[in-house]
Amino acid sequence: MKQLVLLLTLLLVVGTSITESAVARRGAGGGVDEGIVAQGRLVGSGKYVEIYESGVKIDPSFLKIMEGAYEQVETVTGLKFDTATLGPKVRVYVSDAVQISHVWKAYDHPSDPRAIIFLNLRAYSGAMSGTNATHIHELAHLFTWRYNSHTLREGIADYVALRIHPGAAVGPNPGGGEAPPDIPPEILEHLGTTKPPPGWLSTDPVRRRAYYFASRRFVGYLVEMKGMETFMKLYVSENPETAIRSLYGISREEAVQAALTAKH
Ligand SMILES: [Zn+2]
Repeated sequence: MKQLVLLLTLLLVVGTSITESAVARRGAGGGVDEGIVAQGRLVGSGKYVEIYESGVKIDPSFLKIMEGAYEQVETVTGLKFDTATLGPKVRVYVSDAVQISHVWKAYDHPSDPRAIIFLNLRAYSGAMSGTNATHIHELAHLFTWRYNSHTLREGIADYVALRIHPGAAVGPNPGGGEAPPDIPPEILEHLGTTKPPPGWLSTDPVRRRAYYFASRRFVGYLVEMKGMETFMKLYVSENPETAIRSLYGISREEAVQAALTAKH
């Protein structure tokens, strides 16, 4: 009898943990990201950032890198973290289940703004070795979470990342002085507009790289022309195409032309 009770208890425990881990892997809402959050293990907690691992082992010293990045993003952008909306701390999850590093809800982050970053292993190990600045790109998205123009959003995140780590790889761009990609004309039509990100952005790595590169060039041109404060006025404006003219005295098309022919 005792043995039977033991066996039943054991079965119950094993059964429960299998169910729990299956739910955790997918998450209550059925999404991969929910699953990563549900099963993430806290590795370290600092003043601004908490780091978590999920399915992988990460080094506790990564916390210091993220904390440093937080202060650098603050300095470069001149912005304060919106703790009223996003909460007091940034949560960074490193997981082998992440394909492309992103923030919570990715491009739809403003629909459910939370201070959560998902990093893939490449971004994590590149952050540790100082060769990849994608972790700063994602952090910059949280500082600038309220956006109207997707190209301004991606452009400022890459610009900030590369100001802090010049020459590093970031997102789809390899860094290390690689030749710039050719920019297909259809990408120019997106720069500085409120057009939604094109459908091919997540499926076509060649055009994806060019889109991010051009966005960064465009933002870099504007920041270097009139400073970060003026750029942030453009960033929050609901109609950036009109705002470019009033803030910079040139049309969007002129800014695109100048940005992509200038040497940076
Ligand atoms: Zn991004």
